[in-house]
Amino acid sequence: MKIRAQIGMVLNLDKCIGCHTCSVTCKNVWTSRAGVEYAWFNNVETKPGVGYPRHWEDQSRWNGGWVRKDNGKLQPKMGGKFRLLAKIFANPDLPEIDDYYEPFTFDYGHLQTSGEAKDVPTARAHSVLTGQKMEKPEWGPNWEEILGGEFEKRSADYNFKDIEKEMYGEFENTFMMYLPRLCEHCLNPACVAACPSGAIYKREEDGIVLIDQDKCRGWRMCVSGCPYKKIYFNWQSGKSEKCTFCYPRIENGDPTVCSETCVGRIRYLGVMLYDADRIQEAASVADEQALYEAQCDIFLDPHDPAVIAQAKVDGVPDSWMEAARNSPVYKMAMEWKIAFPLHPEYRTLPMVWYVPPLSPIQSRYEDGKIAGDGVIPDVSQLRIPVKYLANMLTGGKEQPVAHALERMLAMRAFMRTKHVEGVIDTGIL
Ligand code: SF4
Ligand code: SF4
Repeated sequence: MKIRAQIGMVLNLDKCIGCHTCSVTCKNVWTSRAGVEYAWFNNVETKPGVGYPRHWEDQSRWNGGWVRKDNGKLQPKMGGKFRLLAKIFANPDLPEIDDYYEPFTFDYGHLQTSGEAKDVPTARAHSVLTGQKMEKPEWGPNWEEILGGEFEKRSADYNFKDIEKEMYGEFENTFMMYLPRLCEHCLNPACVAACPSGAIYKREEDGIVLIDQDKCRGWRMCVSGCPYKKIYFNWQSGKSEKCTFCYPRIENGDPTVCSETCVGRIRYLGVMLYDADRIQEAASVADEQALYEAQCDIFLDPHDPAVIAQAKVDGVPDSWMEAARNSPVYKMAMEWKIAFPLHPEYRTLPMVWYVPPLSPIQSRYEDGKIAGDGVIPDVSQLRIPVKYLANMLTGGKEQPVAHALERMLAMRAFMRTKHVEGVIDTGIL
């Protein structure tokens, strides 16, 4: 056993209001520079939806799949003994600028300066990259957001995954949820495995994945390699860039910018301990539906005396052990089992986890159909199908998600038995 500490994040999707404050504050701090105008280290997607870059979840589209080397490491399918040549000449699977969007702004001055005319003047769009006028912007992040029926009409164009088509099929079954996304700072990062220059590394002390800008040669294998599409190529510098988990702030004891500015207070940061010797074993489990549990298995109980002793041997500082014992991430992911990794079937062992949303259930709740007043929670009454959430969070296994939703409903019912002063109404309880 080799114990390592890793900082992780849990996002409670039940509380995300889709305000994009996290994305904007992150952009102001990290990507308000030439070359990364199109990049959003943090973005908030509406699901079901194509996301950003569009179709990022369609893995067959980007890298033609993965192979596992004898030592268990992932590598892009192309290559074999000509791997390096293939990497140099055949990196065909990059998202293009249109998959992200060509950043545009409007000529607002035109509204004031245009001469008198029959029609109201329009603020014409022009590209931020080229300065050229655009006929009209055609796509961008959140373009199809909250379009309801219109969204359904567009689904054929956007080549949704079958499950999304199935779930989004009929008007009365429509639903939506927000999914804020950032780099997962994976335990088994595909970007690190894919980089021919050895420029991407995972920090020993906290697991944050960073790109050494001096070493990066701009191959962009990390862009095609990352299944979450969370690496961006800077067209100005010719180097790749990614979320840094705000490491200068973390080192200073401050939360990430997205966490600190989150309006819904949905983000929790915390330390997890894991057995680094078992990473490949966990990522190699054949059954996709078993991958979530396999990842859970490598996390260690920070209260266990044997773990505490071994952590000392492995050099985990006492302050990090203390942080692990008080970690909300550990509590939600491991003790309460209400948080799950995003797409564990990608096998990179992501470290940004999500509490699934309860979805709009207020009316059903008030009708007494869900929880409260001693009624056992019935997740079949939820608007967002458990199957959909499971497809996103547990490799398709529905039971853990249903269990988490039941716990959250029970907690909500419990909290509603309290009076304003926090006194429990034991009669209702
Ligand atoms: Fe690398 Fe992508 Fe994982 Fe981030 S999400 S660590 S960029 S593989
Ligand atoms: Fe959601 Fe918080 Fe981002 Fe707003 S700031 S979109 S509530 S994660």
